[in-house]
Amino acid sequence: MNLIDPILQFQEELKLIRRSIHANPELAFEEQRTSDLVAGKLEEWGIPVIRGLGKTGVVGVITNGSSARSVGLRADMDALALQEKNSFPHRSVLDGRMHACGHDGHTAMLLGAAYYLSRHRNFDGTVYVIFQPAEEGAGGAKRMMDDGLFDRCPMEAVFGMHNWPGMPAGHMGAVVGPMMASSNEFELVIHGKGSHAAQPHKSIDPIMVAVQIAQSWQTIVSRNASPLDSAVLSVTQIHSGSATNIVPDSALMIGTVRTFTMPVLDMIETRMREIAEHTAAAFGARVEFGFKRNYPALINHAPETRFALDVMSDVVGHERVMADVEPTMGAEDFAFMLLDKPGCYVFIGNGDGGHRDHGHGLGPCNLHNPSYDFNDDLLPVGASYWSRLALEFLKRPPLR
Ligand SMILES: [Zn+2]
Ligand SMILES: [Zn+2]
Repeated sequence: MNLIDPILQFQEELKLIRRSIHANPELAFEEQRTSDLVAGKLEEWGIPVIRGLGKTGVVGVITNGSSARSVGLRADMDALALQEKNSFPHRSVLDGRMHACGHDGHTAMLLGAAYYLSRHRNFDGTVYVIFQPAEEGAGGAKRMMDDGLFDRCPMEAVFGMHNWPGMPAGHMGAVVGPMMASSNEFELVIHGKGSHAAQPHKSIDPIMVAVQIAQSWQTIVSRNASPLDSAVLSVTQIHSGSATNIVPDSALMIGTVRTFTMPVLDMIETRMREIAEHTAAAFGARVEFGFKRNYPALINHAPETRFALDVMSDVVGHERVMADVEPTMGAEDFAFMLLDKPGCYVFIGNGDGGHRDHGHGLGPCNLHNPSYDFNDDLLPVGASYWSRLALEFLKRPPLR
C-alpha cells in the first residue's frame, strides 16, 4: 500500500473522531452534533465552511493557487434507527440509534483528507469536501442540491465512497455504469366486501385477491423483463383481517422494486398496475395502487470511473483493486449527484468483521446489522484515496 505519511501519523486522531461519532448516532436531518463536530474540525484547520445546505449538511472549501479547476468529494453522516448489540466502549449511547452503515467512518475518512489537503496545499484549484445528511432513505443529497450545492460550489466532477463488508479490508472496487439500483416502493389497497367467515359466499374476499396479485406480480420479473435485465419485486408486507370468523373488508400490500434502468422500472410499474386492476376486477374487487420512486439507479460515468480505478491502484496496489465490482440492488442517494455531475462511486472493503473490538454482538459484521462496526484500519486508506484523488484530478488534464 502506498498511503500518505502525514495521514498515517494522524490515524489515531481519526480513530477517536470516528468512535466519537459512532457513540453519538443521529438520524436524518438531525445530525446536529455530527455537523458541529465536522464544521468545528474544518474551521480548526483553517478551511472555510458552508453550512445549512440540506439543513445539517456541511461543505468545506479548500482552495489553493489560482486555477479554476475543482472537484467534489462526498461523505454521509447519518445513522439508523436500530438498537446496537455491541458492548465495546464506543457503542451507541442512544437507545434505538446506531451507526450500522459506517457513515461514521465515511465522515472520518473525508475529514482525514480535509486535514491533509489543508495542511499541505500541494495542489492548484478547489477541493469541496461535502458532508451530507440523511442518506438512509430521506434523500439528503437531493436536499443539498435543491439548496444550491452545485451553484454555490461549482465542481467539474463529484466522487463518493462506501465501505463494503465481506470485501477484504483495504481492497477497493468500482464498475462503469449501473452499480446500485433504483429504489422504489409500492402500496396496494384491495377493497373487497366483508362478511361472516362461515358465509364466504356473501363476501368478496380481499385476502384471496391479494394472494393472486402477489403471485402474478412475480411473473413480471420472470416473464416480462428481459432475462438480461436485473430487477427485484418484493412484497414485504401483507396486512388484513382482525378475527378468525371474519372475512375482512380490505387488504394492504406493501413492498419494494429495484431496477438498474428507467425502461425496466417503467415497465414494472405499468405491469403491476395492470395486473392489480384486472385481477381485482376478475374477483369483483377494487384496488388503489400507489407507486413512489425514491432513489434513482446509481450510474458511474466511464472516464471518472477509469480515473478513480487508476487512483485506487496507486493507493492500495493494483492487486487489491476490483475494476468490475459486482453491482448491488441496494440503493444510494449519491445517485442524484451523478445525474447532475460526472463522477464515480466506489466501494472500500470493510473485511469480514475480525477487526471488531472485544464486546461486539453475536451477529455478522454486515451493513444494517446490530453487531456491525466500521473497520478503523480503513481510515488512512480511505483518507489517502480521497487526498490522492483530489490531487491527481486537479493535476491531470480535464477528463472531459
Ligand atoms: Zn445504509
Ligand atoms: Zn450507507
